[in-house]
This record gives sequence, C-alpha cells and structure tokens, in this order.
Amino acid sequence: MAERILVIEDEKKIADFLRRGLTYEGFQVDAQYDGESGLKAARDNPPDLVILDVMLPGLDGWEVCRRLRAGGPTPILMLTAKDAVADRVKGFEVGADDYVVKPFAFEELIARVRALLRRSRVTEETVFRFADLTLNVTTREVTRGTRKIDLTTKEFDLLHFFMRHPRQVLTRELLYDHVWGYDFGGESNILEVYIRYLRTKLEAAGEPRLIQTVRGVGYALREE
Ligand code: CA
Repeated sequence: MAERILVIEDEKKIADFLRRGLTYEGFQVDAQYDGESGLKAARDNPPDLVILDVMLPGLDGWEVCRRLRAGGPTPILMLTAKDAVADRVKGFEVGADDYVVKPFAFEELIARVRALLRRSRVTEETVFRFADLTLNVTTREVTRGTRKIDLTTKEFDLLHFFMRHPRQVLTRELLYDHVWGYDFGGESNILEVYIRYLRTKLEAAGEPRLIQTVRGVGYALREE
C-alpha cells in the first residue's frame, strides 16, 4: 500500500509542486493550506510522514509541529525559508525530525523523505539497543548487560523515548510532551524525579551513566 504524506503549506505553487513530485514517486498525497486544517487532517487520518512549512497563516509551523509531536511519532520534515541556525535549533526543539531550506530541489527533499520513512520503519522494531542497554517493547523487558531491570510504566516510557532518539538532546518540554502529554504543568519537577529513578536503576551495579544532563536544555542518552 502506498505510504501517505500530508503536506501543510500555504503557498499553492509549492504545495502543487510537492503533490506532483510525491505522487509521481508513488506516494499518496494530501495537501492542506493552513495549520489548523493540517492538524485536523493528521488527526483524522494519520499519515506516514508530514511535510510542514514554517510560515503559515494562523497557527505557524512551529506550533503545528509541537502539537503533532505530542500526538505521536509520525516523522516531520519542516520547510524553512532561511538557513538560520536558530530556526534549525528551534525545529528540533519542537520535535521536527529534519528540515529542508527553501528554495529546494525535489531530489533533495525526496532523499530526506525516504530517509525519514526508513528511520520510522526502524522505530517500529520491538528491540532497542544502546551501549549495553536493551529494551524490548513487546515483552517490556529491560536489561543492562545480563542484569534485568524492573521499571514502572512511566520509567519505561521515558527510557523508550530516549532509546528511540539516541545521542539527541531532548529538551525538557519535548520529554514532557512525549511522556506526560503536552499540556502538563511546566513548573513540575516530575521529569527530574523520574530521571533520578531511572539513573538509580540503570546504574545499580556501578555501570557508567547513560542518561546525561544537558545543562539548561534537557537530557541526552549517550556515553560519558
Ligand atoms: Ca508559507
């Protein structure tokens, strides 16, 4: 079955260009021209990938991205008008998986679309490994080396999210969005508490730390 791509872009010319190109490549394409309609389309009929413009009337692309992210792991490719580092950082902060700078060649875009779809198929795998840590989504077993680790549901969800995004800096907001839901109280220190629980369990036999603090930003799963 054809994979489905949702294009959210208010510039008709670009939306048509994307629709034509992607259809030609064998994808099923739905185009929406503002953020609200895009969000609704994504909710009503979840696509395999979203291509999302930053500059949209009403809800802008950042906000749309943040809300889509809170709804699930669908890959999001953002279209940005300028190659500003700030935009790039912001894109990853709100949960975009990749971005393409306008104006772009279709080939550049399709290469990224394919890479993201491949990656998201990989995330359907049930066993995740990082260093000596293994997490099995089906059996909900977590081991460090040969040592079995018992986690509560929230601890498991949090670790699962880290293991799906190894070595990436995950902001506090993003972690709250994914594990507790996006409108969870920002003043809460629940994340810090759970990070502490996880570290205690993961390091119980004196193993090196795998969940690192990124000061002022959030956390990352990586070796020291
Ligand atoms: Ca636009």
